[in-house]
Amino acid sequence: MQEYPQTLIGRTTAEVREAVTAAGLPAYRGSQVGEWLYRRTLPGEGGGFGADFAAMTDLPQTARAELAARFGAPVLIPGEQRTDRRDETVKILARLADGGHPIECVLLPDERRVSVCLSTQAGCPMACAFCATGTQGLTRNLSAAEIVAQFLLLQSRSARRISHVVLMGMGEPLLNYENTLKAIRILSAECGIAMRHITLSTVGIVPQMDRLAQENLQITLAVSLHAPTDELRRRLVPVAKTYPLDRLMDTCRRYAAHTHRRLTFEYVLLREVNDRPEEARELAALLRGVPAAVNLIPYNPTAVAEPFQRPGPERIAAFRKILEQAGLTVTQRKERGRQIAAACGQLVTEATRRTPKKTLPVLAGVA
Ligand code: SF4
Repeated sequence: MQEYPQTLIGRTTAEVREAVTAAGLPAYRGSQVGEWLYRRTLPGEGGGFGADFAAMTDLPQTARAELAARFGAPVLIPGEQRTDRRDETVKILARLADGGHPIECVLLPDERRVSVCLSTQAGCPMACAFCATGTQGLTRNLSAAEIVAQFLLLQSRSARRISHVVLMGMGEPLLNYENTLKAIRILSAECGIAMRHITLSTVGIVPQMDRLAQENLQITLAVSLHAPTDELRRRLVPVAKTYPLDRLMDTCRRYAAHTHRRLTFEYVLLREVNDRPEEARELAALLRGVPAAVNLIPYNPTAVAEPFQRPGPERIAAFRKILEQAGLTVTQRKERGRQIAAACGQLVTEATRRTPKKTLPVLAGVA
């Protein structure tokens, strides 16, 4: 059983009240602490990012000291931060406070919204062929506190309120089900992010998708498809050997019927691998009758074993046109943060190169 740092981050306000009461303080102090933790967004003490009790100025000095002694452990150690001045994308390399494992989180502001991309695992066991994280394996699941702390850290570095969350960084969220669900509930109920503004991206863990449907959350489920046939998908996304497309698509239909939510299908475009007109036609046929939008993600080259290429604009446009002519809603992921290491995971990749090898995984999460 993983031991996580003692912190109040990652607990609901009701749980914070319980913890504060157990520390000998009146329950209403817990409500104040919850307010500070999730809605006032403090920069965090010292070198680590955790609950900053010293800044909770409406609590008595003695209460602050008591809470800091019990729950003051840092959750994340923020490291290198890079900002792309062209689009204000901010990428932070953070280390888990209990072992130094690196993760990345990203702030993506635009005119209309402020989105963040959070990691749910340190490393990832899914081994997708185009993803650097996948070559490193799983280090461990993140706690709900470590997921929520990424949000709070990014909020503390943003002048505007965060409005949208995507769980699309390092890791497969549905393999860290309990912690991810707890983090989603806290982000919604405590941090004020509407469920409809939260997207969970999965590579297609069928039993957990069925379980998620039963939670009746109004989040968006994004399924990383990347191939329209089992043969190609098994090559790109090894979990397809366990969950072939017919099972996956049945599950997607059930999910949509149960939640009344349209799914998003993520499709990384790899030149001459999955970006031909025939694959576009197969994809359109596969998604027929599924309430779906397709998000095309032109590949960002990273340091992975297979030398995948990014398709040129004409190939992307031709692929998109076939899908649209088939009646599908298609979006294309915007290029963000190119100047600061475009592909997800490059900060971690670079940190890995600079640090003696051992437990440092690499992130390129597009699933
Ligand atoms: S693409 Fe996502 S699921 Fe696949 S290995 Fe990378 S982080 Fe894991």
